[in-house]
Order: sequence, then structure tokens, then C-alpha cells
Amino acid sequence: MSNDIKTQVVVLGAGPGGYSAAFRAADLGLDVVLVESRKTLGGVCLNVGCIPSKALLHVAKVIDDAKAMADHGVTFGAPQIDLDKIRSWKDSVIAQLTGGLSGMSKQRKVKVVAGYGKFTGSNTLAVEGADGTTNITFDNAIIAAGSSVVDLPFIPKDDERVIDSTGALELKDVPGEMLVLGGGIIGLEMGTVYNALGSNISVVEFADQLVPAADNDIVKIYTKYNKKNFNIMLSTKVVAVDAKEDGLYVTFEGKNAPEGQVRYDKILVAVGRKPNGHLIAADKAGVNVDERGFINVTNELRTNVNHIFAIGDVVGQPMLAHKAVHEAHVAAEVIAGKKHVFEPRCIPSIAYTDPEMAWVGVTEREAKEQGLNIETANFPWAASGRAIASARTEGKTKLIFEKETGRVLGGAIVGINAGEMLGEICLAVEMGADAEDVGLTIHAHPTLNESIGLAAEIFEGSITDLP
Ligand code: FAD
Repeated sequence: MSNDIKTQVVVLGAGPGGYSAAFRAADLGLDVVLVESRKTLGGVCLNVGCIPSKALLHVAKVIDDAKAMADHGVTFGAPQIDLDKIRSWKDSVIAQLTGGLSGMSKQRKVKVVAGYGKFTGSNTLAVEGADGTTNITFDNAIIAAGSSVVDLPFIPKDDERVIDSTGALELKDVPGEMLVLGGGIIGLEMGTVYNALGSNISVVEFADQLVPAADNDIVKIYTKYNKKNFNIMLSTKVVAVDAKEDGLYVTFEGKNAPEGQVRYDKILVAVGRKPNGHLIAADKAGVNVDERGFINVTNELRTNVNHIFAIGDVVGQPMLAHKAVHEAHVAAEVIAGKKHVFEPRCIPSIAYTDPEMAWVGVTEREAKEQGLNIETANFPWAASGRAIASARTEGKTKLIFEKETGRVLGGAIVGINAGEMLGEICLAVEMGADAEDVGLTIHAHPTLNESIGLAAEIFEGSITDLP
């Protein structure tokens, strides 16, 4: 069976980028078709990324907090883990959000076409679905095809004991010994979940620090706090995996490599994601895709073909949902004839680990590389009443200022709730606030947020007596 559709805008992929673009375009009065190969809308983020990982991290936090209370006079019994119930709760969170998107599409009369889409020309796309092929003729297209997990050639592929982030989120069991291959955000978040559920976690990272994108002073605090939870092997890599009946035997190389083979029950491969640019026959539409699979775009999110736009993970780093959403709005508005460009001063990054690590704007390392004249101000949480009352003083808040003007160029926080706190620093950077603006803003007491105001006051020299 073959269907033909004509539309003003076709959006390829219904992740945070795709659905946001489709909804904004429809709200602006355009006729929109949204193409998605998954059963539900929401892309990686809602189905196998941001949302399910946070649902499981919530479970981990409650377990860890309950354990920690024993030091403060409240002892709970050992947690009874019911994996089936945790899994169905996580699935219900996904269903609530993806179902919500489906309703929002209907409200806006966005036509959802289920199936895998490929370009067949500069104004045509064919979607292969369960009901056959749908041929779509479009005036404008927005490519929001996202990214996929990277696998490694020397890791067994068809062994169910080797999992990626999607496999980890399925939560099939709680392995005794789990190796997390890659010390980035996704690996550490999933390691946090499995550790709370009872797994012994080892993390191997090729770089000399975990989460290489963040400043070392921030990551160091996280790493020190987690030495009791994780066996962390930095400057080390996996060179071979021998899959035997009784376990996966791993050989390491590098500075902190253990001797001989080490046995694990499961390996979580979390070494990054690759863009899906090569999977959509972009060449048929004349759209250039680089050798890695990224699609270059202008600040209006246009590809080299004027009426075809691209957004989200497929256009480059950072591969984050909030970046995709903002790009989506720009692309949709430009198509609707509005003047808009994607030129953010900063895009926040957050590791929802324990403690959390969050940073935005220029990092200290980037400032040095760019030869910026900066000064940092650090507020240690050992001096925060709220952190002391929460028994979580391992954190710190750092602001990065332009030395001459005191303008906030960036900031980073490590500690509980760092991710929620970061918004204030994002606003400061985006609005071009300086130390006086932040320092004179009255922050409620006792909050962890106070540490942001206090860091600004440290820069201004009005606070000097810190522990
Ligand atoms: P995607 O979400 O990848 O969506 C693309 C969609 O397009 C997919 O549904 C795919 O099926 C569909 N598609 C692709 N090609 C075709 C085709 N040819 N035809 C039809 N459909 C197609 N980001 C954050 O900001 N915060 C987080 O906390 C966070 N946590 C994460 C945790 C994990 C475990 C993972 C894996 C990722 C996480 N991310 C997080 C990253 C985030 O998920 C991505 O940055 C975001 O989903 C990118 O959105 P997107 O719209 O570009 O693409």
C-alpha cells in the first residue's frame, strides 16, 4: 500500500528536537508531518535516556539517603529490591510523558507517520512503516534524527552480559560485579543506580579524570566522595574481553591497570554516542554529512540545502536535550518567516550523579586555552549551614569571572542538587551579570543557592574568612 502526503514541514525524528520543532511549527500555523520509527514519541531522551535514567536515579537516591541516616540516629531495615516493580514504575514514567506528547500532537493536528524515513529527493521523503510506504512531498524539512550508542570492536556484541545504556535501563538483573567502560556522565549515572541496588562497580576511564569535559577541581571532589562506592581506574583502557561461561574476563592496560584478567558479571559500555546523519540518505536531498555523521548548519539551523534544516544531536556537541529543544524552536520560527538565530552564550551540562556535577559557560580549562583573563571564586560547602545540616559538605560552588569587569563567564557546582542550582549561573552568564549583580541579590537562608551569592562576594573581596 502506498500513501502520498504533501506538507509544508516534515520533521524527521520525534526526540526532544523533533517534537519541539513540530509543535512550534504547528503553533505558528504551519502544516506539519512528524516521522518517527519508534513506537512512541520522545526519542532517546524520553524512551531510553534522560527520563528513565532519572527515574532510576531517584530510586538510588532514596536507598542511599536511607542508609546514610543511620549515622544521624534513624536506622531503616535493609532495602527489599523488587526489580519488576522498579521497572514498571520507570516504564510508567516514560508512558506518562510519551503519551502526553501523543496528545499534544493530536491537539495541534501534527500528523504522525510511523516508520523509518529516508530522503528520496530534495523535496521528497519515503517512510517505510508497518502499513507500507508513505511518500511525503515537503516544502521544508527539519532533520532531527538524533544519535546512537558507540560500540567497541573488541567487545563481544551478541553476549547479553555486555550492555549499553539502553540495556542498563532495562534493569534485567543486579549483577554482582559490573564494569562501567567509560567514566562520562552516562556511565557514572548508571553506575550510581546499580551500586545503590547492590552491584560492586568498577569504572575504567582512558583520560586522567572522570567526566573529562568538566574542570578537574569539580570532578576531584566527586571522585574522592565516590572512592568508597566505586573502584575507579583512570588513565587505563580495556584491551580485550574474554567471554567465558562463568563471566567476562577483562584485560586492562595503562597507569592503573590491574594485573592479568579480571572477572565481571556484566560490562556496561558507555563510551559515547554517534550522530545518525549517515542513516537517512541525506545525499539524495543534497545535504552534506561529514564523515562522523554530523550535519553542519548555520545559526538559523539551515543545512547546505536552504529549505532543509537540522537540529539536535545530529548537528553536533553538546548532545543534550535542552540544546535540541532550543535549536528546534529557532528552525521552526525561521521556517515560519520569523527572524531568529541560535546563538546561546552558554549551554549547561549536568551529571545527575551523587554528588551531582554541573557546569555552564566557560570552564577554567577553556578560559586558559582561550587566553581569557579570568579570576575564580570558590565557596566550599563546609561553610554552608544548609550543607552541614544535610550532612553533605563535600560540595563547592565556583564562579568564573572576567578579571577586569567582574562579568560572570561561567561557573560550576559539585554537590547535592547542583543541577537544580545551576540555573542561576546560566541566567547570570546569559544576561551578562557581574559579581555585584549576583552578590547583591538576596539569597534565602539557609539554602545551597546562597553559595552562589557568597562566591560572588568572595570575588568582590567582602568575604575573606572561609574554612
Ligand atoms: P533523539 O532523542 O536521538 O531522537 C531522534 C529520534 O529520531 C529517535 O526517536 C529515532 O528513533 C528517530 N529517527 C532517527 N532517524 C529516523 C528515521 N530515519 N526515520 C524515523 N525516525 C528516525 N540529555 C540531557 O540533556 N539530559 C540528560 O539527563 C540526558 N541523559 C541521557 C541519558 C542517557 C542514558 C542517554 C543515552 C542520553 C541522555 N541525554 C541527556 C542525551 C539526550 O537524550 C539527547 O541529547 C537528546 O535525546 C537528543 O535529542 P534529538 O531530538 O536530537 O534526538
